[in-house]
Amino acid sequence: MNLRKLIFTNNACYKAGRTITPKGIMVHSTGANNPNLKRYVGPDDGLLGKNQYNNHWNQDTPDGRQVCVHGFIGKLADGTIATYQTLPWNHRGWHCGSGSKGSGNDTHISFEICEDGLTDAAYFAAVYKEAAELCAYLCKQYGLTEKDIICHSEGYSLGIASNHADVMHWFPKHGKNMDAFRNDVKALLAADAPAPVQPPAPETLTDNSETIWNFLKGKGLNDYAVAGIMGNLYAESGLRPTNLQNAYESKLGFTDAAYTRAVDDGSYTNFVRDSAGYGLAQWTYWSRKQALLDFVKAVGKSIGDLNTQLAFLWNELQGYKAVLAVLQSATSVNQVSDIILTDFERPADQSEVVKAKRAGYGQGYYDKFAGKPTTPTPSSTEPPAADTMYRVRKTWGNAASQKGAFKVLENAKRCADQNPGFSVFDQTGTKIYGGTEDAAYETYVVVKGDSFWKIAADKLGNGSRYPEIKSLNGLTSDTIYAGQKLKIPQK
Ligand SMILES: [Zn+2]
Repeated sequence: MNLRKLIFTNNACYKAGRTITPKGIMVHSTGANNPNLKRYVGPDDGLLGKNQYNNHWNQDTPDGRQVCVHGFIGKLADGTIATYQTLPWNHRGWHCGSGSKGSGNDTHISFEICEDGLTDAAYFAAVYKEAAELCAYLCKQYGLTEKDIICHSEGYSLGIASNHADVMHWFPKHGKNMDAFRNDVKALLAADAPAPVQPPAPETLTDNSETIWNFLKGKGLNDYAVAGIMGNLYAESGLRPTNLQNAYESKLGFTDAAYTRAVDDGSYTNFVRDSAGYGLAQWTYWSRKQALLDFVKAVGKSIGDLNTQLAFLWNELQGYKAVLAVLQSATSVNQVSDIILTDFERPADQSEVVKAKRAGYGQGYYDKFAGKPTTPTPSSTEPPAADTMYRVRKTWGNAASQKGAFKVLENAKRCADQNPGFSVFDQTGTKIYGGTEDAAYETYVVVKGDSFWKIAADKLGNGSRYPEIKSLNGLTSDTIYAGQKLKIPQK
């Protein structure tokens, strides 16, 4: 399941603010030939695409009607299938009217499957699978079983919904009905039943845990901060840098190793836009995957290289000021684990259960490593490895500006001195010699939601000074992306 979240906070139903104790799930389909999520879900988050008519359901009364459901399944702008959660699952929705015995709005979680022309078997198979996975996910979360799932037309028969035909005007065209659907959900629940919730025993932790611990300790973080980060990374990837999000292994037809290899050798070209989580932190959003790809290419390492991903992760964290502030003054594993979850990883499911699970993993690492002296990392104390190169560039991301790569640091420094504006970078992209430019500006890493105006307002005290940032960075377009590094002029 490709679950995302865009809550309809402008919808009158959301504003009504009523909650339910979910007793079941009602499956709907839209009854209109438009498989694109952007018709219903908006505004554009970069994946949905723009709804040019602006008639999505994130407004008071969409199409003049009092309607709202908990989720939609359909196509993203790139044609892939996704599920969007559009109301908190226990919010009271406006999806099925009522019948002689009351209203399913008071008891049922609801979602709409976007209909197409109803004859495309491939589209049907994809959204059907997504719907079954969503139902299994909700059943687990609310203690429901497949028997608690009905469609709108069944709700009408039961006397708790208005007289609509969905989804039984569609499923049978593809050899399915609601009994088959319930059976498929049942199979998913059975396959998933023994969900692993315990952190691994220390002796089964992968070797990566020590490397990661030492790397983060080497950045000056305390034991709570390092453990809190690691618990989240474990939950995301099992600390495996080559981990491809499980759901995408079958969808894309790749194992972890095959995907990594195909990205490295260039035979797979959709890494940035495929929406698949990958790597230690399961980077998913396209701009973060683009930044990761650029980063590993600049150092000539594999996309699945542990140390390179760690260096990238550390770079990325510099752009999350609120998270950094907590990391630098951490007083418990829980505190760090929670903010990494809610402000950095930001998965769809941020429930208390998930928080407790991740903090538990973090505690496991704390118990294993805290208080022990760390092994110095090779780059800090040992002589450089044979392949260590010091590169002289304007910025790390600007590989084209490279003046040279040197085995001897002193030579690299001399080169930087001779080229104003250039600096020396080690193989992880960390600037180790500033050249002559340091005093002139600070570097800021763009985060999601930023604009030039906002950055200028924060950093320079006045949004209207944004042209100074654009010109210092040689940019003409107003478009910026998360992960992009900008020079900020001095106040
Ligand atoms: Zn319906």
